[in-house]
Amino acid sequence: MQFEDIPGLQEVKQGLIDAIQKGHVAHAQLFSGPEGSANLALALAFISYLNCENPGTTDSCGTCASCQKNQKFIHPDVHFVFPVSSTTKVSGKEVVSNSFLKEWRTFIEKDPYGNLSDWSLVFGGENKQLNISKGESRSIIQKLSLKAFEGGYKTILIWMPEYMNASAANGILKVLEEPSDRTLFLLVTQDQERLLGTILSRSQKVFIRAFSQEEITTELQKEGVEEVRASHSARLSEGNLKLARRLAGEVEEDGATLFKDWMRLCYSEDYGQMVQWADEFHKMPKISQQSFFRFGLTLLRETLISHYGDSHLIKMPEEEKEFVRNFSQVVTPEKIEPLTSLVEEASYHMTRNASTKMVFLDLSITVSRLLKGKLNGIPH
Ligand SMILES: [Zn+2]
Repeated sequence: MQFEDIPGLQEVKQGLIDAIQKGHVAHAQLFSGPEGSANLALALAFISYLNCENPGTTDSCGTCASCQKNQKFIHPDVHFVFPVSSTTKVSGKEVVSNSFLKEWRTFIEKDPYGNLSDWSLVFGGENKQLNISKGESRSIIQKLSLKAFEGGYKTILIWMPEYMNASAANGILKVLEEPSDRTLFLLVTQDQERLLGTILSRSQKVFIRAFSQEEITTELQKEGVEEVRASHSARLSEGNLKLARRLAGEVEEDGATLFKDWMRLCYSEDYGQMVQWADEFHKMPKISQQSFFRFGLTLLRETLISHYGDSHLIKMPEEEKEFVRNFSQVVTPEKIEPLTSLVEEASYHMTRNASTKMVFLDLSITVSRLLKGKLNGIPH
């Protein structure tokens, strides 16, 4: 991984490079960034730059022996620690990072913006609880006792240290505090609130912001996504590149079309149909249900904004523009707010495993009454 492989974030990259060039490399650093950000990718690019034999002003050379090893994630002085769980093949004491290095390399090469469940899918964790165990901290200390093979930095990258259990965390405190010479700890977190205060206080924070809408749009276009779709996906993804890629590839129309049809159904007050819809919704894959809510909430937001002028609609796909214009004729701004809360609440309950069918039916009936102005306490 090199800096040039990561979209945008120029100022963050420059900050990291400046630190290395000035020799200000803190021995314990916390790369903290939200899910779908470049926190892991930047840590990897940082390592490549640090180890590079001919670093340039803006990136590692990409061709020296060290860069070649880092490209394949097989540099002997770079160690990886990450959450794991038992699998059908690996259990007991074997459940440590070292047993999953091959899968890990595949993951960070193909999906450095992925989250824990993406990782679990790659190594076959089957949604079991993942963690970084006490055994792992012992192996970290062991790795540190080895001399650097290539005379440079010895680096330990810990991905998602928030999954270290307390004894593992305590196990590495001492080495964080008194590191051996030319040893570097890179902790890459998505949720620094969950880290022990003692770990936080011993590391230098490197804040990795989420990608901007513009950065994601540009990146998606580079990957062949057409402009309107790219900017639409970027807007929905809230800076999460992984999510943006999925949205751009998703059959987005499905979620949006379903939502529009459902709104029409609620408006028609056809209760028989609503029961049937709840039944069908219940059978849909989780990912389609989520897409339904996601696009639904966006449409509601767009409708609300369109009441206050529609200049922003220019970037929307033609079909949605049409719907938003018609929908805003029927639904006043006063109704959109409670409507949005109802949809958000139902979506939340479904992720908490409430009965999809009942929640959806209940939502349909309430929304129908709201649209028709029959709900107590809602102005119409
Ligand atoms: Zn190099």
